[in-house]
Amino acid sequence: WQEGILRRQAARESSARTYARALPIVPVRARGMTIEGADGRRYLDCLSGAGTLALGHNHPVVLEAIRKVLDSGAPLHVLDLATPVKDAFITELFRTLPAGLADHARVQFCGPAGTDAVEAAFKLVRTATGRDGLLAFTGAYHGMTSGALEASGNAPDVRVARLPYPQDFRCPFGVGGDRGAELAARWTESVLTDPKSGVPHPAGMILEPVQGEGGVIPAPDAWLRRMRQLTADHSVPLIVDEVQTGVGRTGAFWAVEHSGVTPDVMVLSKAIGGSLPLAVVVYHEDLDVWEPGAHAGTFRGNQLAMAAGTATLAHVRENGLADRAHRLGDRMLTELRRLRTDFTCVGDVRGRGLMIGVELVDPSGEPTPKQHPQPTENPTPADRTYEPLPPAPELAAAVQRECLRRGLIVELGGRHNSVVRLLPPLTITDEQATAVLDRLTDAVQTAAR
Ligand code: PMP
Repeated sequence: WQEGILRRQAARESSARTYARALPIVPVRARGMTIEGADGRRYLDCLSGAGTLALGHNHPVVLEAIRKVLDSGAPLHVLDLATPVKDAFITELFRTLPAGLADHARVQFCGPAGTDAVEAAFKLVRTATGRDGLLAFTGAYHGMTSGALEASGNAPDVRVARLPYPQDFRCPFGVGGDRGAELAARWTESVLTDPKSGVPHPAGMILEPVQGEGGVIPAPDAWLRRMRQLTADHSVPLIVDEVQTGVGRTGAFWAVEHSGVTPDVMVLSKAIGGSLPLAVVVYHEDLDVWEPGAHAGTFRGNQLAMAAGTATLAHVRENGLADRAHRLGDRMLTELRRLRTDFTCVGDVRGRGLMIGVELVDPSGEPTPKQHPQPTENPTPADRTYEPLPPAPELAAAVQRECLRRGLIVELGGRHNSVVRLLPPLTITDEQATAVLDRLTDAVQTAAR
């Protein structure tokens, strides 16, 4: 049965399919952190719908909220009409917003996907400022539609200037730490202030507080505050993409709260729909320049997603699940960092809250040179603390396979696909966390042999 399903879908589905290649399982049932395959095997799920499932699969409060809408006879699809279900969602969303934004915020429903909200945010800041260009960061991921894609990855683009994202490991300036973040910030500053940079006054800057797909790279709080200050000084709207970091994932309800930064625009999706498709932009009322109908989309009124989302946001808030993510994430990070001593192929372990990355490297390789072209200011040789070993994507894939054999689903990512990513639900129990750590350690040991 399972083999037949896998074979038929592989034959008929587009070659663009991704997860199904690395994870040849056929999920038929799921609850909390556990997925059961058609063959009866059970897995601990650290993929969580690419970080969507803050409460895990089929959480009772989410199911109850969905059933309530179904049983009430409410319309399931209403474009952007006002409804009690939407009213409850907006009320709960605004309750959670960062303090600086909540009192002056507008929300716009954008459609099902994170990338829809990114497009809306770009169009919004372009309309509001009358300018065109955008600032984005190396290694960013904002989605797969054309606008979002322009601002993702490392490819240079005419309309989007790419700035170095601060990185400890594989720091583009070869120094890491505070000094690397400082050099990255100065680069951005020079682009905004130096007319010779050739970058015209931009319509906005977009960043992830923790890069997810880029390899789980948390931005230092001080760097985020610098970006806030710089963008404010130059009247450039700051768009923070919290599609993956939001709803408690990083140990605060929104990841910007760690740094105290108040964005002008927040892009939200994934967990806000409680496992169903929903995406919104939230922005300062001063940017609310749209004419009615200036930005539309058929699927802005998914009532089931709003109800599931309301239940999820409320449950995370009322049960302090962001704090729990912080505590448990710290424990998992501390234990995983030991892998660096035990295995030379584990180059780096990093993350924030329950957004964790383990970067695999090739111990027999030569250290990688700097990735970025010329930094604004060259670090002195004394600044150069290390040059990391080359990324090991094949080893990372082997670790993923070994994890699967041990009943653990993990995600791969990073600039070179060499980062094993853990995005467990915020409801993961202490015992499940221990099982994840044990299975991952075991998988690394086998793959490294
Ligand atoms: N922004 C970020 C930070 C993301 O992680 C993602 C998805 N991984 C997106 C945007 C795009 O979301 P979607 O896949 O729903 O279009």
